Amino acid sequence: MTTLAGHCHCGAIRVSLDTALTAAELPLRACQCTFCRRHNGLTTSDPAGHAHFEAAPGAVTRYRFGQGNTDFLVCAECGVYVGATTETPEGLTAVINVRGVDLDGFDGRTPEPMIYDDEAPAERLARRAARWTPAVVVEAQPTS
Ligand SMILES: [Zn+2]
Repeated sequence: MTTLAGHCHCGAIRVSLDTALTAAELPLRACQCTFCRRHNGLTTSDPAGHAHFEAAPGAVTRYRFGQGNTDFLVCAECGVYVGATTETPEGLTAVINVRGVDLDGFDGRTPEPMIYDDEAPAERLARRAARWTPAVVVEAQPTS
């Protein structure tokens, strides 16, 4: 198991992926949804791995649109899109925005374009349960 780690531009959100795969073996996807295109997002996931998001107090903004079942995690400080999470029957799953958190080892890869516009909500959840990474999001509480 290796850990790939990165963070948003300002460092308020830290992201890690525990995986048995190398960066070269992990998928690299260019989601073609209207949000990801605007961010030029490139995502990865490993259903056998574990994703960990750790945020400073108040650093996570959750953005939803479309079917409304996905939280796009954006840093409230620097505006970087770091990844997305969905609650599935098997638990919280995530993709990591490789470009947003500057995850090592993906430079020079050609991403696979993904178009999910025609997916029904149930299909979408099933795909994510199968392909996204089991995840936790930890938000530090402000100390008073
Ligand atoms: Zn940030």
